[in-house]
Amino acid sequence: MPIRLPAPCLVLLVGPSGAGKSTWALEQFEPGQVVSSDELRGRVGIDEDDQAASEDAFELLDTIVGKRLARGLVTVVDTLGLNPEQRAGHRQLAADHDIPCYAIGFDTPGKVCRERNKARTRPIPARVLTGQIKRWEAVKAELPDEGFAGVFEPDEVDLVPASQLDAAGLAARQQSDPRSLAFGLQISSFSWDGDTADIAARLTEVAAAAESAGFTSLWVMDHFRQIPQVGPEWHDMLESYTTLAYLAGMTTRIRLGVLVTGVTYRNPAHLGKILATLDVLSNGRAVCGLGLGWFRAEHDAYGWEFPPVPDRYDLLEDTLQLLPVLWGPGSPSFEGRAIKVAEAMCYPRPIQDPIPIMVGGSGEKRTLRLVAQYADACNLFGDPATITHKVAVLEAHCLDLGRDPAEVEITTLSRLVIAEDRAALRSEINRLRPRSMSADEYAAVTNAGLAEDHIGRFREYAEAGVHTAIVNLTGAPDPGAVERFGEVIRAFR
Ligand code: GDP
Ligand code: MG
Repeated sequence: MPIRLPAPCLVLLVGPSGAGKSTWALEQFEPGQVVSSDELRGRVGIDEDDQAASEDAFELLDTIVGKRLARGLVTVVDTLGLNPEQRAGHRQLAADHDIPCYAIGFDTPGKVCRERNKARTRPIPARVLTGQIKRWEAVKAELPDEGFAGVFEPDEVDLVPASQLDAAGLAARQQSDPRSLAFGLQISSFSWDGDTADIAARLTEVAAAAESAGFTSLWVMDHFRQIPQVGPEWHDMLESYTTLAYLAGMTTRIRLGVLVTGVTYRNPAHLGKILATLDVLSNGRAVCGLGLGWFRAEHDAYGWEFPPVPDRYDLLEDTLQLLPVLWGPGSPSFEGRAIKVAEAMCYPRPIQDPIPIMVGGSGEKRTLRLVAQYADACNLFGDPATITHKVAVLEAHCLDLGRDPAEVEITTLSRLVIAEDRAALRSEINRLRPRSMSADEYAAVTNAGLAEDHIGRFREYAEAGVHTAIVNLTGAPDPGAVERFGEVIRAFR
């Protein structure tokens, strides 16, 4: 079993010279993550063996370790580690930065260390090594009680985001006592390699992969240029409902929605007409996602009004009241706080009666209240603890309004990176990450992991009360990654 360590963390190597510390560290970590006293002796002194340079080397080592921890970077301290004050000092430094500290004890037989020492170009004196081997025997007994987050023997290391440290336990729980969870796929980038003329084909491939992997819904954003959270504004972006109309023709089972439609972009009656048409042409697969909208620059660019938050709430509430009326029989007139519709008429009426409405956003006072009052589903962001809290707030609104909370579907949106093994995951992270972010930091913000890590992660969401997890596979989705995610979906059937 590999050693599972959270990133960031501080790792102290402990063991006599020749125990194999430096070799192991460079096999398991990136060279830049390992801070070695030998190497620093070579930088400030004659070479690695220059004992007279030790004090300077350790001073530098402490400085480097402190600076790295301050940046939240994974750090491995490659020294003998036999000095208890030094270990305590490094544990404290890690604690000061809220970073867990682990020890790796190298219990290599003394005989092997001696043989390896003899084979070195400049062996350390035999009695010095004997002293180290003796000290190691004593330290070995003390390590477990020193206050490390964990003490391990050297083995293969899996560095994972801290939130995934217990993924294996959670995935096992999902296997022995399964919870069900549906999955949706959000496509937020259309910047695949290739020409504009290839976009339709790539989209079709992704949609086909999503249907066969078992995703029950497919979502696009309501943006007219790429948003800063995803990429530069000149990246390819397709208009949402035109794209869903195309996907309606290219798919058969998957539900189709916009995550979420900004109420500011279209006349609300026109929006209702678009949704009804999508529902008819997809044979009842439309979902109506609605939200306040937030992207001012886009409104300015296209000449749309971007009213203040209270006015947008009025518009959202009007839309929530209007749409079921519009989709219903007849042609009643509608007058809300912000809009007036003389004849709310829409034929053909949607196949679903009515089209389910999902309101996006986690605002506790107004947004979740509107969900409780008008919507069939909500869409929440955040870690499982945040979701647990938001679900409780939503339930309280429901009870207050006399509505059964079980009627409201809880959905979440989160991004992730999935790969088939650790090496592939690492290279995917390095391909995607911006230069200002370390691979480990990027892995944490994108929830990068293997299928088992994600099963553990979504088990926590299921326990937090989520019914549908909408995932964004980071970047323009690759059909292979969509298929790979099928393993996670199957664990929640
Ligand atoms: P350190 O003094 O604890 O840092 O030990 P090193 O990593 O420098 O290893 C000492 C010597 O043992 C080097 O020549 C390594 O190539 C060799 N060595 C380290 N680990 C292993 C191992 O697992 N197997 C074998 N055969 N040699 C090893
Ligand atoms: Mg070494």
